Amino acid sequence: MSVVDEVKQKLDIVEVVSQYVTLTKAGRNFKARCPFHEERTPSFFVFPERQSWHCFGACGTGGDVFSFVMKQQGMEFSEALRLLAQQAGVTVPSHIERDTRKDERERLHQVNEAAAKFFHEQLLHSPAATRARDYLSGRAFTADTVTAFQLGYSPDSYESLKGHLQERGFSEKELVGSGLLVETDDGKTRDRFRNRLMFPIHDARGHTTGFGARALDDSMPKYTNSPQTLVFDKSGTLYAIDLAAPAIRKQDRVIIVEGYMDTITAHQNGFNNVVASMGTAITERQVTTLKRLSKNLFLALDADTAGEEAMLRCVDYENILDAEIRAIVLPAGKDPDDVIREDPQKWHGLVEDAMPVIDYTINMKTTGLDLNNAGDKTRLANEIIPIIDKAKDTIRLDHYLGRLAKVTKIRYNDWEKILQNYKISHRSKRVAGKSEVTPVAKLFSNPLEEYCLRLLLHHPELINMSEGLQPEYFRDSQNREIFITLLQTRDLPSLKDNLDPALWEQVESLMALNVIDGQINNKLDSVILRLRKQYLQDQKEERAAAFAAVAVEEGTGADLTNLNDEDIKSNAQLQQVFEQEGKSHRSGKGWT
Ligand SMILES: [Zn+2]
Repeated sequence: MSVVDEVKQKLDIVEVVSQYVTLTKAGRNFKARCPFHEERTPSFFVFPERQSWHCFGACGTGGDVFSFVMKQQGMEFSEALRLLAQQAGVTVPSHIERDTRKDERERLHQVNEAAAKFFHEQLLHSPAATRARDYLSGRAFTADTVTAFQLGYSPDSYESLKGHLQERGFSEKELVGSGLLVETDDGKTRDRFRNRLMFPIHDARGHTTGFGARALDDSMPKYTNSPQTLVFDKSGTLYAIDLAAPAIRKQDRVIIVEGYMDTITAHQNGFNNVVASMGTAITERQVTTLKRLSKNLFLALDADTAGEEAMLRCVDYENILDAEIRAIVLPAGKDPDDVIREDPQKWHGLVEDAMPVIDYTINMKTTGLDLNNAGDKTRLANEIIPIIDKAKDTIRLDHYLGRLAKVTKIRYNDWEKILQNYKISHRSKRVAGKSEVTPVAKLFSNPLEEYCLRLLLHHPELINMSEGLQPEYFRDSQNREIFITLLQTRDLPSLKDNLDPALWEQVESLMALNVIDGQINNKLDSVILRLRKQYLQDQKEERAAAFAAVAVEEGTGADLTNLNDEDIKSNAQLQQVFEQEGKSHRSGKGWT
């Protein structure tokens, strides 16, 4: 039995939750006012038989004892595991086996931290940094802000950082590996960042992973940052995530801006739930990271074409989040930095008025078109239908079509027909696969989850195709954590580096079982569908139990609207799964 299973076996979720929340009995289950959102009537339930919890109110989430402690305490899985293991009296293997890559990473964090300190000191005290200081005071940044963001200045020299860090015992090789030095054609090395305002970049745990740098003269490019290194990957990075995480969690809302300045100005004015995307394209990894803090994403991207392109990818991200993304529409030619500095109240208003990103996209696509004109209508359909077709959820699809009908004044039914035609023409392009039956040994507590992980571990290239797969579909926190870490790392060596050693045992046992080759994509599609079905059915059962408990206790006067709506929604989703299953059986996709 794995350590995680042992902890689960020894602890009772009711006792653990009771440490944080006052539970009252409701039939065989327990209820309380949800600790994660403000509410008057209890919609938070704990189910002792399933050892699970669920909030049927604003949160709409649930899980097992680990996910509860993670959410309640704002902890990573590893921390929650150690806390609960201690309560259960179970010993957890520690991070003893640190392999070289892990040491290398730590060393790079240290190099970057030392460099950040050096740059910061330069900014505060060096006579050469006058221009940088003037620039910051021109922006009205306070001393507290400069300290909180550890802003810095890189001297106009080829050797100053290099010399400073070498004196502190860092090798030239390490400095090159960190991206702080560059190698020149003649094989020598020199400082990468010169005469620039420096923005240290941290990961969610507060490690310094790299730098952003702004020119203080006419040097091009105006903004540059660290190259890709073992610890810095722009596409997975969110500037200020370490500072913003508590506010994001608390307000259950995250605002994504484009620039360092936007972020810093926002924080200085008390908008602490703001992070920057490190470029215009929001990536799947960034969305997955943010989803752990809040599902409510707001985008404030400059209203240029690049920003608009970013909006177009958002339907994909709404699938990941299972929630609507909102667009903050900025006045033409202004970025969040301008707006907030002019009038923080105005920014507040823009955030409150943010519109669903799909509405924004439709508006954007219809601008300049004459929808009485057949040619323009076709043009719009060609652009918008492929975007809308990406919706993985019938409720959301229906919502999108409704928005489209409203904005374009073309009937809903007509849009539905156009979408159906599009789907048919695309489906016929797919080739039906041959079925293949192999029994899967039911050795594990959740064969379906484990089978899915085996597929992904044996074929990490499939991770790019697993977009419909939500972490919530894994009921077991252990499996869920492996999946999330795999999403973030995407290959086995870095999975091993990043995964809690207590979970590696589970990965190894999964890897020990082979996956039969062939039709791998179909296998993945099929298992995702089954996991989704399992997830929806579980929710339905929990909802039925909560429904019964509330009805018995409070009679017909109880406010069951929310539960009812949820039920209708999940029935529709289940219906969709059954339909998809029917289709895949006909086309010969089997689960093995
Ligand atoms: Zn809640």
